[in-house]
Amino acid sequence: MLGVGLVKGLRTTAANLFGKAITEQYPERKPNLPPRSHGSFTLEAEKCNACGVCSNSCPNNVITVSSERDENKKRFLTGYQMDLGYCLFCGLCVESCPSDALHVDNNFELSAYYRDDTVQTLFEGALKKQVANE
Ligand code: SF4
Ligand code: SF4
Repeated sequence: MLGVGLVKGLRTTAANLFGKAITEQYPERKPNLPPRSHGSFTLEAEKCNACGVCSNSCPNNVITVSSERDENKKRFLTGYQMDLGYCLFCGLCVESCPSDALHVDNNFELSAYYRDDTVQTLFEGALKKQVANE
């Protein structure tokens, strides 16, 4: 019937007109996000053994783990990069890490002007000593 949509719309408007405002005053006020919300990533590099399980479990090939082997053929971490422009924030990488080295936090302010700036380096260097002494 003609006008039913309009009536429905007005009813919804009227129902919400006097309700509690839910506008977020962002960025002046940061939203209070649930503790388990998925934002940025942090790596506890000293726990990471460069096994690459996180990288293999990522459906979008976001993670690049670089490693070398020491004189005992033990692998150690030399680099950890995430191309967050392709990340789904599904958390599979965090769940799959056997060393509990990769974590997700609720820092969601990840926007960048250039695509290249969405690549985050979580670790760069060499942790040969710490990993070799485990
Ligand atoms: S959150 Fe998902 S898409 Fe993003 S890096 Fe981890 S596994 Fe890949
Ligand atoms: S973060 Fe975890 S899963 Fe990824 S390489 Fe390091 S130890 Fe392996």
